[in-house]
Amino acid sequence: MTALIEARGLSAGYGHLAAVRDIDLAVQPGEVVALVGANGAGKSTTLLALAGWLPPMAGEVRWKGEPTTAALHKRATMGMALVTEARSIFRGLTVAGNLRVGDIDQSHALSLFPELRPLLSRRAGLLSGGEQQMLALACALGRMPALLLVDELSLGLAPIVVSRLIRAIKAVASDGVAVLVVEQHARQVLRVADRAYVLNRGRIVMEAPADELIGRLDELKKSYLATPVG
Ligand code: ATP
Repeated sequence: MTALIEARGLSAGYGHLAAVRDIDLAVQPGEVVALVGANGAGKSTTLLALAGWLPPMAGEVRWKGEPTTAALHKRATMGMALVTEARSIFRGLTVAGNLRVGDIDQSHALSLFPELRPLLSRRAGLLSGGEQQMLALACALGRMPALLLVDELSLGLAPIVVSRLIRAIKAVASDGVAVLVVEQHARQVLRVADRAYVLNRGRIVMEAPADELIGRLDELKKSYLATPVG
């Protein structure tokens, strides 16, 4: 089966320095794939390169089996959505205003996140962090992407909010959306993921079914998920 998105031998980084090297990964429609690793391992860089925000220094990104070098905005029209911890919403607009500006069907957004209904007339900047992420996700998913790239959606949020966001991600995958998710809360994300890649110092060091990795989480944390010192 052709992957929806694929990286082959992908290297990317900043200036002349590659932060990730020789990345091979693939995500199929309907799959939730987690990318885990310590701080600085290269998770965000990998997502940014897949999204077209960073050009490859080597290797390629394939979309539906074809190499692509399309820019970020073009990839959005091709069906890729990138949601980051930066909560890409208009803080001065209401929730309803954000949906309107994004040309998002309100009833679709509310079916994904009924929690937003009583907040429609509230300014987005006044929402809690979790509510802002629900709005950001609702806007991204309202454009009916084929692929959702999620970077640390739950940074600084309470565990119950994190699990709500992760459940929402799982639900869209069961509708056929391919999801690649970077998440600090490895255990929570592995519970809903199908597979995971482990990144260490810019390279993929392991790829395994998520349930296998949950069973090896202690070992994984010790070897690859602890923040490197020095
Ligand atoms: P974290 O979990 O802390 O977000 P990460 O796994 O997402 O980490 P990246 O943010 O991809 O890691 O960073 C990989 C490497 O690239 C790190 O060494 C980081 O310092 C470096 N890096 C990240 N962003 C930039 C940038 N804008 N300019 C230069 N170097 C950067």
